[in-house]
Amino acid sequence: MQQYFTDIVLRKGDILPLEKDILHHLETVLRKDEAYIFRIADKEGKIFFAHLLDKKNALIEEETGEDNELSFEVTAILSLVKPEKFEWALQKLTELGVKRIVPYVARRSVIRKAGKNTVERYQKICREASEQSHRNFVPEVTEYASFKDLPKYLSEVNLLPYEKEEVSPASLDNHHSVSFLIGPEGGFEEEEVEAFRELGFTSVTLGKRILRAETAAVFMMSLLSKEDL
Ligand code: SAM
Repeated sequence: MQQYFTDIVLRKGDILPLEKDILHHLETVLRKDEAYIFRIADKEGKIFFAHLLDKKNALIEEETGEDNELSFEVTAILSLVKPEKFEWALQKLTELGVKRIVPYVARRSVIRKAGKNTVERYQKICREASEQSHRNFVPEVTEYASFKDLPKYLSEVNLLPYEKEEVSPASLDNHHSVSFLIGPEGGFEEEEVEAFRELGFTSVTLGKRILRAETAAVFMMSLLSKEDL
């Protein structure tokens, strides 16, 4: 069942004027009519059933009562890598419940500056993945960040997956908020790793194999989201 997001607070019985792109998707792409029931998540993360009332509006019906979010917030700070790989990671981390994604410019990041609509495109990828995975919220994609920006993205627990580390990630049984930081294709320089540790990151291993950055990001997010199963 298709889901959309609105930044309005909804109540059962509301008549919601639908945004053009939702109307277009429902009528032209899905070729649906008034009989089709779809889902709308509102600004507060409440998900409702709804159906087309006419060519412009939806009637908001019962709330589904679902809470499909993790019980703790995860911030993924991802070093910039090749666009198609970065965008794949955005989609997968969204499906796995990430709350915020911070594109990070590491010393060895080949991509260093955002294009005019890059962050907007990233946000659209997360929105579409949130619709598909029936999230209550769409993860936030921040502006590109450099080392000086990191303090504002720290959580109660801050993990640095680092291939030279031997210590495994401890379990997060009492559900802290977590940030993790993944390096670029060429990895982090030693100096960067030291600076991250001084900032409060704990380096952890993700196993004996060298994972691609996007694989490491999804593996780290999977380890965290397992806590909620
Ligand atoms: N330095 C790596 C090498 O020797 O080829 C390349 C870095 S790897 C492609 C990209 C990022 O994924 C790393 O910076 C790290 O954050 C994470 N990563 C990859 N494999 C890992 C592992 N076995 N343990 C912990 N982190 C890993």
